[in-house]
Amino acid sequence: MIKISKRLTTIAEHIESGSRVADIGSDHALLPVYLVQSGIAVKVVAGEVNAGPLRAAKRQVESAGLASCIDVRSGNGLQVIAPYEADTVTIAGMGGSLIRDILEAGREQLSGVKRLVLQPNVGEDSVRYWLADNGWFLSAERIVEEDGLTYEILIADRVDNAEEKNRVLYEQRTIAGRSLSTAVLFRLGPYLIQESSDIYLAKWRSELAKRKSIVKQIAQASSPEAQARMQKLQQEINELEEALSC
Ligand code: SAM
Repeated sequence: MIKISKRLTTIAEHIESGSRVADIGSDHALLPVYLVQSGIAVKVVAGEVNAGPLRAAKRQVESAGLASCIDVRSGNGLQVIAPYEADTVTIAGMGGSLIRDILEAGREQLSGVKRLVLQPNVGEDSVRYWLADNGWFLSAERIVEEDGLTYEILIADRVDNAEEKNRVLYEQRTIAGRSLSTAVLFRLGPYLIQESSDIYLAKWRSELAKRKSIVKQIAQASSPEAQARMQKLQQEINELEEALSC
């Protein structure tokens, strides 16, 4: 059995047994090989846009002897699959805005897909907004730490009443005396903030420190643009501090 990271294992844990998976941006096809070897997926399309990773994926699949179950395809985003070919799509290890663009460009190919398992490295909120705007219900969130880095994993399902369920999920609320606006819930994750695990709090403490350091640097500049940026950042810091105060 191939060895995969904690991050990829967590993604695999959210894929139903017997799934037909499309792994977009598969790189070395580690996830597809694991999914087939562990009996989670019956068929996987591993999509790659770049030549080097595409070669690595093909080599990996051949050396695992799984070419009959894993189809490595060259192409941009979801263009590598046909509508109704996959029931689950995974996109991991890219920025949130790239994941959002791949989903947006591949709306037709998402026909027949019931679950999305997404792991943006940054910009998780842009993925949450896209999901909510496009009829996907965010059903779970996970956070894992590995080698000093923190990863958020977003699981979204196609459900009949997604709009109503998302409305409730992102509705402004107060948790343990902390007031959380809809914008803050999109930024911080509606399940993750509720859980407020140690890994999660450490991540956001570090993010807050980064923003404060930028504000300190900008404070030296007097241009109207710099002042506006500083005000926006300071407002964001205040909101995050309010939301994360324990
Ligand atoms: N998904 C793997 C993981 O999480 O370990 C690999 C992540 S790797 C950092 C990102 C991969 O996505 C790269 O191999 C890159 O070539 C590929 N990629 C980037 N943009 C893509 C796109 N539009 N379509 C398909 N693959 C893409």
